[in-house]
Amino acid sequence: MADYQFAYLTSTTHPGFLNAPPLTSLPSARFVVAGVAWDGATTNRTGARMGPYEIRRASHMLGDAWHPLFKVSPSGSIADVGDLSLPNTSLTSMRPALESAASELIANNHMVWLGGDHSITLSLLRAYRAQHGRPIALVHFDAHCDTWPDHAGEPSGHGTWVREAIDEGLIDPRLSVQPGIRSPAHSDFIEYVPSRGGLLYSGRALRGLTSPAQLSEICGAIRDRLESAGDVPVYLSLDIDCLDPAYAPGTGTPEPGGLSTAQVMTVLEALHDLHWIGMDLCEVSPPYDHAALTSAAAATLIWTYLCGRIAATTRSAP
Ligand code: MN
Ligand code: MN
Repeated sequence: MADYQFAYLTSTTHPGFLNAPPLTSLPSARFVVAGVAWDGATTNRTGARMGPYEIRRASHMLGDAWHPLFKVSPSGSIADVGDLSLPNTSLTSMRPALESAASELIANNHMVWLGGDHSITLSLLRAYRAQHGRPIALVHFDAHCDTWPDHAGEPSGHGTWVREAIDEGLIDPRLSVQPGIRSPAHSDFIEYVPSRGGLLYSGRALRGLTSPAQLSEICGAIRDRLESAGDVPVYLSLDIDCLDPAYAPGTGTPEPGGLSTAQVMTVLEALHDLHWIGMDLCEVSPPYDHAALTSAAAATLIWTYLCGRIAATTRSAP
């Protein structure tokens, strides 16, 4: 892990997410962060390879990371393995290398993956599918449905992975939820998940719904759906462009009319006690950010997830 070939990769000699130490220094860490500094499958603006570095930097502002609602802190419970050393120019080489590295890490750790463009999630889902031996449930925040049948003429990219994951049986479409979708796209693509039984809450459907009370009906429906099949493992994939560019300008394919940071925080807080098995946060592109708005939002959403995990298991403990 110490062999960093590219200047933008974040070394474990730097402070990790929330100042987490390397995994070698805290092998019993409850959560492990890894960066996937890959942006070779973006369709518009690149730069997400610098995402892990800036998300970590923004996380250092969270101080002791004590959560005002959950009244817990993940500080001291996290290790950070830095950014994975992966092939840097070929998606077809990067994906199996990431899947292999991910399989090793998820065998022993609850992981948080810092993207990177969204093409990384397919490799991660392949690893989770193999680990759990069944299709998993997916909560996928995004402005884009990521179900296109091809990537501007190429077979795969950052906008095809949801379709591929369904077609490969990695995720159960009936247990898949997509909040925030709003980009211009033919209904054939937007309807790919709903037509297979999943839930989609468009950016339009979520307008004006921010508080716990306003979002209770939708969060209740998501919970009912994901708990309907029993104790199914749930994975969270959060594309930062689910947020409106006012909240997250630093991303490759910004789409106006999106969610607020507070909206997503409300949903994550409301659903904190689902059977989450891990998460990724993708598409933070620091070269297009302003005043670290995007990386701060990303760090805060990850922190919310981690605190929710701790709170859920603490409360359910005997
Ligand atoms: Mn997107
Ligand atoms: Mn996406």
